[in-house]
Amino acid sequence: LVSRMRPFGTTVFAEMSALAVRTGAVNLGQGFPDTDGPPEMLAAAAEALRSGRNQYPPGPGVPELRAAVAAHQRRFWDLEYDPDGEVVITAGATEAIAAAILGLCEPGDEVVCFEPYYDSYAASITLAGAVRRPVTLRPGDDGRYAFDPADLRAAFGPRTRLVLLNSPHNPTGKVFTPAELSLIAELCREHDALAVTDEVYEHLVFTDASTGHVPLSTLPGMRERTLRVSSAGKTFSCTGWKVGWVSGPAALVSVVLRVKQFLTFVNAAPLQPAVAVALALPDTYFTDLRAGMQARRDQLISGLGDAGFDVLTPEGTYFVTVDITGLGGADGVDFCRTLPDRCGVVAVPTQVFYDDPEAGRRLVRFAFCKRPEVLTEAVTRLRRAS
Ligand code: PMP
Ligand code: GLN
Repeated sequence: LVSRMRPFGTTVFAEMSALAVRTGAVNLGQGFPDTDGPPEMLAAAAEALRSGRNQYPPGPGVPELRAAVAAHQRRFWDLEYDPDGEVVITAGATEAIAAAILGLCEPGDEVVCFEPYYDSYAASITLAGAVRRPVTLRPGDDGRYAFDPADLRAAFGPRTRLVLLNSPHNPTGKVFTPAELSLIAELCREHDALAVTDEVYEHLVFTDASTGHVPLSTLPGMRERTLRVSSAGKTFSCTGWKVGWVSGPAALVSVVLRVKQFLTFVNAAPLQPAVAVALALPDTYFTDLRAGMQARRDQLISGLGDAGFDVLTPEGTYFVTVDITGLGGADGVDFCRTLPDRCGVVAVPTQVFYDDPEAGRRLVRFAFCKRPEVLTEAVTRLRRAS
């Protein structure tokens, strides 16, 4: 193994899911729903398989999916992208982010990101030989995660190539506010930096959030310098399909395509027309998804509160973080490794998503994208142990 990849062991998601299987615990660790996505989408995939759409699709993705991605962004975010040249289909958001970083960063270039960060970011930045400049999100007295604007300003410099922004944010559930987005945009313009936005939770912003979802590319001067990434996994409960996409100005999207050709070439022909069907579902699909997830959030946070956890209420995503100090926990990794044996529940320690593990030492993430009866069982078990 090359030296630069040696710090990267098995992902915490794989470790914790294996632990859940081994111990028979309720798995609130890795984020994946335990119910299927819309039946129209599943039927369209089956039909595509049966009708022989099983050979290499076009490199940028099948035309109907690119058109559906463009139409969806126009419908929800008032963003215009040309399906021919400004949209490329990828193997999940993960490949879009990796290809963007590999194609845009020279060795030594700096990538500003917010920690805790989704684990693939650090690996992709490292594979490119680039350097990450994390800005720490910390829980405030109001229970919301925020960053110090001075930290963000200090993270930008002459070597900044791009900022990698994930909002709604995994694992904290934070939705970046318009003021925070404005500062990020201002710094991008000032330093002539690009942005890659990971918006896989774009439809999971709760109605009581202080702000709705605002794509960074809608801010002044940002469309031309932003690659906007999303995927079908969360919105249509099909994390195993790995169908994602990137939209942006043709010059930037063509960089992703250039790299993507040699990572995966193309992906999942029969699943692409099915995701196109899903993206065109009526608005009620998307509002029902959010309402259902909001109810599960409320169920889990009240149960976690009853079990003695100090809960940091998320405004979006399907994750909630807790501080384990009140339960006598000092280290999230130790806490999560022993939790299955203590009470039969699996969670994820968020300190593994920080360059500075101290900042996340006592924080643990639970996923609530599970059936209500599964959440009830998890909470019963947690209460017994606390
Ligand atoms: N970004 C974030 C913030 C995520 O939580 C995930 C997890 N699924 C991904 C990217 C990866 O998405 P995909 O499965 O579409 O590659
Ligand atoms: N995105 C999911 C999570 O954060 C799972 C990702 C993975 O297993 N790589 O839990």
